[in-house]
Amino acid sequence: RPRVLSGMQPSADSLHLGNYLGALVNWVKAQDNFEAFFFIPDMHAITVPQDPVELRKRTRVTAAQYIAGGINLEKSTLFVQSQVPEHAQLAWVLNCLTGFGEASRMTQFKDKSSKGGADVSSVGLFTYPVLMAADILLYQPQGVPVGDDQRQHVELARDLANRFNHRFGETFVVPEAFIQKEGARIYDLQNPTSKMSKSASSPNGLINILDDPKIVAKRIKSAVTDADTVVAHDRANKPGVTNLLEILSAVSGTPIPTLVNEFEGKMYGHLKVAVADAVVEALTPVRTRTLELLEDPAELDSILAAGAQKAREVASKTLADVYERVGFMAPL
Ligand code: ATP
Ligand code: MG
Repeated sequence: RPRVLSGMQPSADSLHLGNYLGALVNWVKAQDNFEAFFFIPDMHAITVPQDPVELRKRTRVTAAQYIAGGINLEKSTLFVQSQVPEHAQLAWVLNCLTGFGEASRMTQFKDKSSKGGADVSSVGLFTYPVLMAADILLYQPQGVPVGDDQRQHVELARDLANRFNHRFGETFVVPEAFIQKEGARIYDLQNPTSKMSKSASSPNGLINILDDPKIVAKRIKSAVTDADTVVAHDRANKPGVTNLLEILSAVSGTPIPTLVNEFEGKMYGHLKVAVADAVVEALTPVRTRTLELLEDPAELDSILAAGAQKAREVASKTLADVYERVGFMAPL
């Protein structure tokens, strides 16, 4: 079976609806057709300051949410990045193959550093896409299922794989980004021209998997809509209503044109009630199962330790090849 790999940062108390619809739902589908590696990139999380106690807690919560959302431990390998040291080791080699200008063109750094400016941003944030390339290339996957916002980073991983292969001989599979078309991007409920984000959205703009269902419903009902009252799918002119239609379509499986017909001539309130009901119905089982898993952190930790062992079987082979190619002594 072809391989895929993907991960989500443990940078918040819960994953949000964008992570769920844009990533997790696709992963669950992918594990039937692919040999899948799903990881928790805690090393990426510390590219911006994190509280140590919170980080470890969030790492466990994220793992629990992967499992609760349907990642099957029989089919897929689930692990925490920092427990597989090959990620850091390969990242260093790739850092030395990445141009400074090339790294400077990554838009996520521009977005995330713009708040404080480059002076207060860490070098880790700057080189984040290179670590991400290492995450991917270690496992030799054919595909990387990600949301639309990660397209540029997968492109860098492809460039680095090609560059390494040219300079040192065939070593890496050159992976493709698998971008889901519908529901690929969920927007902030309060600011529907920006994507829903763990780090950038205000609480009212977010729907978290672990939110109380009443809060989920309340946030959807107070979502920003648009000046007129026409239900239409129009990203440029009606971003708020468009986001609600896309959310409803993604959670219910109903095509957008069908929804537009259904809500034609009705008030926005009707649409919001339907979206709230559908989202609560989709998220409740995931929330309940996550909370159950978190009741036994020792069991969760041993699941993650076993996952890291499995991941290292693959990662250590790739790293040994890389060390041989670049002229290092064999990794011990
Ligand atoms: P941060 O703000 O810390 O970057 P994030 O909310 O962007 O967090 P990531 O951990 O960067 O989440 O991304 C995890 C996965 O979720 C990626 O595959 C990403 O493409 C996807 N994703 C993130 N936000 C959205 C969104 N609003 N809509 C759809 N997919 C999303
Ligand atoms: Mg992000």
